[in-house]
Amino acid sequence: MIGAASRALFSGLAASTLLRRLASRYGLRRPGSFARRFIAGETIDEAIAAARAVEARGLLTTLDFLGERVTSFEDAERASRAWTAMMGTIADAGVNRNISVKLTQLGLDIDRMTAVDNLRRILEAGRPHDFFVRIDMESSHHVDRTLEIFETLWGLDYHGLGVAIQSYLRRSDDDVRRLNTLGAPVRLVKGAYHEPRTVAYADKAEVDAAFLRQMRALLAGGTYPAIATHDDNLIEATLAYAAELRLPRDRFEFQMLFGVRRDLQASLVAQGHRVRVYIPFGRQWFPYFMRRMAERPANVMFLLGSLARERGGPRG
Ligand SMILES: Cc1cc2nc3c(=O)[nH]c(=O)nc-3n(C[C@H](O)[C@H](O)[C@H](O)COP(=O)(O)OP(=O)(O)OC[C@H]3O[C@@H](n4cnc5c(N)ncnc54)[C@H](O)[C@@H]3O)c2cc1C
Repeated sequence: MIGAASRALFSGLAASTLLRRLASRYGLRRPGSFARRFIAGETIDEAIAAARAVEARGLLTTLDFLGERVTSFEDAERASRAWTAMMGTIADAGVNRNISVKLTQLGLDIDRMTAVDNLRRILEAGRPHDFFVRIDMESSHHVDRTLEIFETLWGLDYHGLGVAIQSYLRRSDDDVRRLNTLGAPVRLVKGAYHEPRTVAYADKAEVDAAFLRQMRALLAGGTYPAIATHDDNLIEATLAYAAELRLPRDRFEFQMLFGVRRDLQASLVAQGHRVRVYIPFGRQWFPYFMRRMAERPANVMFLLGSLARERGGPRG
């Protein structure tokens, strides 16, 4: 985790409509583009190829068709129809039937019903193929509505559904408790958005302490939790607590991002743990990429280096 100032900077850049448009038009096509480290490609075929390669290393996958903060009804519906078409392709390809969706891609910023209708279309398309659909968690002003929609659909027996909880939010202990009572599968993450101190912890120590509390609550009383972090200390603590509980390895999983800590992914798999890799793809990659930049200052240096090389033209 890095400071609030850099998160604020990158979240400002991510919100720029002009940069998003430019990035979706040019960025990933360039060979050697630094964004390619984190994003599998622009098309479902590229995503499936990446998923096959990841699964061949003994890992599990979840696919994320990038897109968020959609403001028109048509774009939200287009995204959900694209998802349903791609789910058929994913099922035919034989890779894991596990996807991650953002409710603002499905129209949450337009109105609740648009997002619910679009999500239900995806869930219905997934049912015959036994898909698991994880709702990513977005910025704090979406959390109440996201959880309310999740809990409503869960109550309607859509159980191939899970949600993410961000440990940096001050409210998350309560949310984890409630979701555990429902028996709902939770993905625990630290949180990737720029948030005010009134709603989120700012210090790494406080976020880590909250993550530990919630990880323990999920392992002890949750349903197939996903512990999504690349933080060595938190992974060690998870392994130690699972051992203390004598929790079988098939009762929880780790999750990590495509392009991040492949060494750690491999070593956990070698120890017999389940590790799922989150594979994003699509043309709307810019906000996701900015969040990855904000997480690690070294990424910005790599990015500047690769831009400088591109401007210098081909070498040798
Ligand atoms: C599977 C998955 C799903 C996620 N879903 C959501 C979600 O729905 N909502 C949400 O707000 N956030 C989500 N996140 C992002 C999460 O909130 C964190 O921002 C992100 O995981 C970085 O935190 P960390 O736990 O790895 O710890 P950190 O302390 O940030 O990082 C620990 C170590 O991991 C490595 N690392 C972390 N990030 C990077 C990076 N970008 N590039 C290179 N190395 C890196 C570094 O070695 C670093 O030292 C998700 C993360 C994962 C793994």
